[in-house]
Amino acid sequence: MSSKAFNSFQIAQAQFDKVAEYLGLDAATRELLRYPLREYHFAIPVRMDDGSMKIFRGFRVQHNDARGPGKGGIRFHPQETIDTVKALSMWMTWKCAVVDIPLGGAKGGVICDPHNLSQREQEQLCRGWIRQVVRNVGPVADVPAPDVMTNSQHMLWMLDEFERIMGGRFPGFITGKPVGMGGSLGRTEATGYGVVFTLREAMKELGIKAENTEASVQGLGNVSRYAIELYQQLGGKVIAVSCWDQTDQCSYTYRKMKGIDLQQLLSITDRFGGINKAKAQELGYEVLPGDAWMEQEVDILIPAAIENQLTGDNIGKISQRVKIIAEGANGPTTPEADVKIRERGILLIPDFLANAGGVTCSYFEQVQSNMNYFWSKEEVLGKLDMKMTAAYYAVSELARREKLYMRDAAYAIAIGRVAQACHDRGWV
Ligand code: NAD
Repeated sequence: MSSKAFNSFQIAQAQFDKVAEYLGLDAATRELLRYPLREYHFAIPVRMDDGSMKIFRGFRVQHNDARGPGKGGIRFHPQETIDTVKALSMWMTWKCAVVDIPLGGAKGGVICDPHNLSQREQEQLCRGWIRQVVRNVGPVADVPAPDVMTNSQHMLWMLDEFERIMGGRFPGFITGKPVGMGGSLGRTEATGYGVVFTLREAMKELGIKAENTEASVQGLGNVSRYAIELYQQLGGKVIAVSCWDQTDQCSYTYRKMKGIDLQQLLSITDRFGGINKAKAQELGYEVLPGDAWMEQEVDILIPAAIENQLTGDNIGKISQRVKIIAEGANGPTTPEADVKIRERGILLIPDFLANAGGVTCSYFEQVQSNMNYFWSKEEVLGKLDMKMTAAYYAVSELARREKLYMRDAAYAIAIGRVAQACHDRGWV
């Protein structure tokens, strides 16, 4: 069956099955890890501004907590499904394990569109979500964070409700809090910088100097802008950036052969990460079709926008010069494209390794919150660099030793660590 016919949870299970086979996991361990340990489905009643009551559906899924408390975001999305949340919770387990932080995998969601809710209604929804799962989450059980369409304000309302019920201050219960209210410095930069920490090591392994490389990037949002910033600081040149245009409802690629000026582009970018096309043209950028970013004559591709961008249909368009693909986004490459990337011998830094800087910094936030002592930005980013670099080498050394594709090596390390923890605890 083609992967297109699977839902996200079936894809996550299929990926797991492949690696479980490679690792030779026993039947009980497979059965344990193929499914979440716990799933909570609940109703959240909210008194709307017009006086009516509305019932929202909420979820929290804890895939595995053998290595530590569950960790994972809460999404607000009108098309949220339990299967998506289950898949994302499983991917969180592998992401925390591959960077070797002592946390498990979890994810949550509410079926809603926050754009159609007032601030007061959103606050009630956040507080209601906590009331429904308060017995099953907490700083030593399951630690939520922001995700799609949730932000630091939502996290603070949730923390406040948790603390009211529990009677005390538990800043380590939730991450993604505002700086000054228990948030960590460096969190904004963490995912994008993390991508480039791994990219920097990949370049070293290939014997390439950053200053002799050119890159093309998809996205100009939270992940991509900081990835571009750090890559440029290392001396690399970004010649093209692709992003979504709200007005035209399609994406465009903005190219400048002598290298983009990040600050200049950000000054004409809206809050959704879309560039003002007319202003970009005035500043001398060529405006090309949305997928032109992947066809550029560059050494490095950084897909850091959305999923399913490099596919079996378009992977043939990437230049023969490309040596490294660093996946900033979650799931930007389909399994069909993976086969071609592997055949071409391109060094792929898989998503759940490359973009694990975000969750690693969330872990640092939790540590700082629990200590009630906060580190400087330099300290946070220095620790992040060490974690990401160590994780990169663990994966690349296994890939080289066992002649594995980098994605498979990353899965093998992550799943192997979680399976070992379950075994050591006597669960299987
Ligand atoms: P964002 O919303 O800040 O930015 C997304 C960017 O992608 C925007 O510039 C937008 O214009 C662009 N974009 C959207 N659709 C596009 C399209 N069809 N073609 C070209 N560009 C398009 O999002 P983000 O936080 O930067 O997240 C990007 C990816 O990274 C997502 O897959 C997300 O799940 C993943 N991720 C994010 C974090 C984090 O800490 N923010 C952590 C791990 C993974």
